[in-house]
Amino acid sequence: MTAPPPSHLFYQTRRRRPMLDQARGVYMWDVDGKRYLDGSSGAMVCNIGHSNPRVLEAMRRQMEKSTFGYRLHFETEAAERLAEKTAALSPPGMEKVFFVSGGSEAVESAIKLARQYALATGEAQRWKVISRYPSYHGSTLGALAVTGYTPMTAPFDAMMRPMPKIPAPRAYLDGLDASDPETGRHYADKLEARILEEGPETVLAFIVEPVGGASTGALVPPAGYMARIREICDRYGVLLIHDEVMSGGGRTGRFFAAEHWNVAPDILAVSKGFAAGYAPLGAMVAHDRIVEAVLDDGGFIHGYTYAGNPLACAAGLAVIEEIETQGLMENATRIGALLKARLAGLMNRFPIIGDVRGEGLLLAFELVSDRAAMTPLPREVKAFDRLVEIAYGHGLIIYSRRTRGGHEGDHFLVCPPMIATDEHVDEIIEGLTLSLDQLMQELAPAPGA
Ligand code: PMP
Repeated sequence: MTAPPPSHLFYQTRRRRPMLDQARGVYMWDVDGKRYLDGSSGAMVCNIGHSNPRVLEAMRRQMEKSTFGYRLHFETEAAERLAEKTAALSPPGMEKVFFVSGGSEAVESAIKLARQYALATGEAQRWKVISRYPSYHGSTLGALAVTGYTPMTAPFDAMMRPMPKIPAPRAYLDGLDASDPETGRHYADKLEARILEEGPETVLAFIVEPVGGASTGALVPPAGYMARIREICDRYGVLLIHDEVMSGGGRTGRFFAAEHWNVAPDILAVSKGFAAGYAPLGAMVAHDRIVEAVLDDGGFIHGYTYAGNPLACAAGLAVIEEIETQGLMENATRIGALLKARLAGLMNRFPIIGDVRGEGLLLAFELVSDRAAMTPLPREVKAFDRLVEIAYGHGLIIYSRRTRGGHEGDHFLVCPPMIATDEHVDEIIEGLTLSLDQLMQELAPAPGA
């Protein structure tokens, strides 16, 4: 890698990255000409692949008309059309769409709309938003308050109102059968217990990722869980918020992941794959009755300057068109099943793979030191970081996280764009095999040691 010049940019750490030159389809090239297979679609964002010519053309056409129209001055055709399309893709009754520029903003908007609905309906005592541990709902303070991931939340605890958390349904850790509806009931009932403990009249909402993302590593809910959660929320007048920031947009094989279980939330958040990285875009979609009540009560006291940006909306619309016309959700289902089976196949060669999970092309595997006991690798090994770096060296990009609290584990998301082919699956498995071999060698004690 060419030694990078000093930079004025900063993100989380001082770590530098190769300079990106260009990206096409599932591949990206740095300025040295090294090619990478984007095996995580960035951060599960670039769902339709890079530089799609039809999306670029739609954006160019919009740019020639206008790139910005302030929402309090103008309506734009791009935003209107995307709102109509988004409502059509959402569960019945969820007719109202509020645009934002990213996932954290979508989650903040959902929480604030829920709160205003409680105020509008004479339930001012409802303010608690129950969420799960682990979970990730965003970086801003409101979204962090419902995030279950202490390395990111702890420094800011003093500045936030603590929100109640229940454990995520990680059946594979508790030795429970995820296909047994009793398992779903077991975990969902933790929500009911928590609502009762908090006082149902104080609980505003429950927020959940239908298929888990970065925090749980593609956690698929056990049988019966999603439906029972819905029932419990209804029983206590608690709003159900689905965070589909990562799982929405088609990656699981359905536009919204909750469709797999036929359940509808009251409010949902979507971003990432919604404009698939072509522009910063997200949306909160809400049930009519919620939005009407809030608007009748004086309006939604919330909004972002870039909301409904016509260029972002034109990109979002073109992305959805591409998913539909090219059958990309069907491909995500087919290639996802193939990739999942091939990842599971790696378990024969690599005893350190403890679990393979996910739905469609939202897939992950977890590394352990003992598969039967799901004992995590020692923290000092930093497997979550090391394997990603090794794979990077082999030209394969994957995404990882180490969960904390309750159970620690290194998991790796393998989520190529939905345009991936059988050959790309071969290439991903080849890259992972090389990388895991190298990691195993590094983990093995030196001879004589
Ligand atoms: N919710 C979920 C489920 C996410 O995966 C993310 C991003 N990883 C967010 C919210 C926050 O989105 P953003 O980074 O776009 O603010």
